Amino acid sequence: MARYTGAVCRLCRREGVKLYLKGDRCYSDKCAIVKRAYAPGQHGQAQARRKTSEYGLQLREKQKARRIYGILETQFRNYFDKAERQKGVTGENLLRLLELRLDNVVYRLGFANSRVEGRQLVRHGHFTVNGRKVNIPSFMVRVGDQVEISENSKKSPKIAEISELAANKTVPAWLEMDKDALIGKIAALPAREDIDVPVQEHLIVELYSR
Ligand code: SF4
Repeated sequence: MARYTGAVCRLCRREGVKLYLKGDRCYSDKCAIVKRAYAPGQHGQAQARRKTSEYGLQLREKQKARRIYGILETQFRNYFDKAERQKGVTGENLLRLLELRLDNVVYRLGFANSRVEGRQLVRHGHFTVNGRKVNIPSFMVRVGDQVEISENSKKSPKIAEISELAANKTVPAWLEMDKDALIGKIAALPAREDIDVPVQEHLIVELYSR
């Protein structure tokens, strides 16, 4: 599947907020947003002084959500269409669908430092869902599913490292983590207040409703 392969710190600078795409570096003073808090490119600093249109605000919010979850436009639009068909508030449905992706769940359970790393670990077949190996980052988990490190991967030094990471992380309320066995469980569907992404989802709904 296609994905963005350019410099990710540019994406944060474009959106003007930390999107936490680089793991540990995002929490250090090496973070590009800390060092250069303006949009990238020759006119980046001038852009900050310009007034943004309503359409511009809606577009930026959609781009921000896409970039946080590492999803290209077509797939993001498909998630939106699915969210619109579901009962309830479309914006919240959209964020819930994005949260239920396996790469995000691996990140939320603390097995990865970022969603990018979560995606890579899933792709390399390091996780099972209900005992079956799944290497599709967009795989949607359901309530009751169990996510754990696959048997073959437990011997790898990289996995020993991430096991330690997961044992020390706090997971959101909709997930449960058995820190001894390192088994994650989807305890409930995530509510809006459980999803700590800096996105105003109603602006995305307004954008796609134009
Ligand atoms: Fe964004 Fe992390 Fe780069 Fe900072 S270090 S700009 S939060 S990706």
